Amino acid sequence: MCGFIGIYGPNGSDVALEIYEGLLAVQHRGQDASGITTFTDKFHVKKGLGLVRDVFNERNMARLRGPLGVGHVRYPTVGVGSNEDVQPFHMVFPMGIAMAHNGNVTNFLELKERLALKGVRLGSSCDVEAILYVFARALADRVKPIQKPTPEDVFAAVKVVHEKVKGAYSVVAILADVGMVCFRDPYGIKPIVFGQKKTEQGTSYACASESVVLDVNGYDRTLDIGPGQCVYVDVDRTIHQRKLGDKPHRPCIFEWVYFARPDSMLDDISVYRTRRRFGKELGEQWKRSGAPVPDAVIPIPDSSREAAMAMAEAIEVPYREGLVKNRYIGRTFIMPSQGARTNSVRRKLNTIPLEFAGKDVLLVDDSIVRGNTSKRIVQMARDAGARKVYMAVTSPPLVSPCPYGIDMATKTEFIASNRSTEEIAREIGVDHLVYLDREAMNEAARAGNPKLEKFCNACFTGEYPTGDVTREMLIAIEGERCSAQIAITADAAQA
Ligand code: AMP
Repeated sequence: MCGFIGIYGPNGSDVALEIYEGLLAVQHRGQDASGITTFTDKFHVKKGLGLVRDVFNERNMARLRGPLGVGHVRYPTVGVGSNEDVQPFHMVFPMGIAMAHNGNVTNFLELKERLALKGVRLGSSCDVEAILYVFARALADRVKPIQKPTPEDVFAAVKVVHEKVKGAYSVVAILADVGMVCFRDPYGIKPIVFGQKKTEQGTSYACASESVVLDVNGYDRTLDIGPGQCVYVDVDRTIHQRKLGDKPHRPCIFEWVYFARPDSMLDDISVYRTRRRFGKELGEQWKRSGAPVPDAVIPIPDSSREAAMAMAEAIEVPYREGLVKNRYIGRTFIMPSQGARTNSVRRKLNTIPLEFAGKDVLLVDDSIVRGNTSKRIVQMARDAGARKVYMAVTSPPLVSPCPYGIDMATKTEFIASNRSTEEIAREIGVDHLVYLDREAMNEAARAGNPKLEKFCNACFTGEYPTGDVTREMLIAIEGERCSAQIAITADAAQA
């Protein structure tokens, strides 16, 4: 998971500040590295490891001139992530292209090896470089030097990307003196939205991984780019769009469960409302299962707050804030090593003992991955005096690794991979545990856009919509994650 934004403003404008604002709005999608590339008569680049506020300052922002730009915040899917892997990437041919993406290319190593045999050595371990190269090569094969590509040339190049590059990716590219190109993977697994706004100088166009980026910059969301669809804004600011395939749409359900901000709309579905529907459904399930009635429903902040409120209403129990989050600590999952992750739960959350002492409390969380977070929080609730601690989760048990760009866990790490719900409840120390039923979860999201047939549920079922995820691929991802983990632990031990 990463966040990106691309903007093509009117001639004479500078878009870097809007990109900066947009990146701040999607900082939750990646806190590891940030970058912006803009174009005037040449590319201007600033990227580095760290949060947006740490990488950019007045001096380097002043350099980022021009009406065409792209920005990115990174969340390393595999490995620690290094300087060479910071996006956006750019390539000097056929006309100069800068690109950023969100997702994961599942045949990246294969592509890299195949290119190496042709003498092309990709310089990073970031998969967007492969997408960029394939796109640039395909454009160069169609367009003569100095010529501007036609919309047909751009669509043909994206089609080549779809054919050669496997996995899930939403992409934005800026083409020097040519325009902005945005596209989504054939199954539309990764989100991408498109919008525009009128300014005194003319109309400005933007695309981003979440609609909140458009909101903060005053853009109207005018298009949800569909599966396999490409949108090309040319140098005259004419919009060309084409659906380049007929694969079914399978957006990742985990965006609504956990990743996206509640104020975002993805594929025309409100994240906020979906989370409320999750909560209402969980409430119905809780009642149907004859589970005990708690004294209070308490969310584990932040992603489960809307669901907890709706669940409290459904089971007619008071909603209470019993856990306070230190907002200056990053998402705990993003801590590189397991030790750091465990400690940071305590650093991030504190209890309000008054809401726990002598009470039966129902904690609501969005997901249980390894179970470490839940275990710590349940213990905190007991330490604060809770009599009974129950838990409701707004998604089903996670059992399968995600090859599409979500750093979930390896198969062996999932707490649910070889345990029943009762065993998980025992393991995390709760008196009763309910997971949201998978069908109910999907229906709750679909209610926002009935045109959507299905969502990618691979992490809950092990059924991968792209149909090309092999056991070997999953083992390779697992291996990479484990060796990255060993490297991080070794680094930490040396430090
Ligand atoms: P744990 O069960 O300790 O592995 O952590 C689960 C918590 O991490 C959940 O409650 C989510 O809030 C959060 N989470 C779930 N999936 C992810 C992910 N892929 N990246 C970051 N955080 C996640």
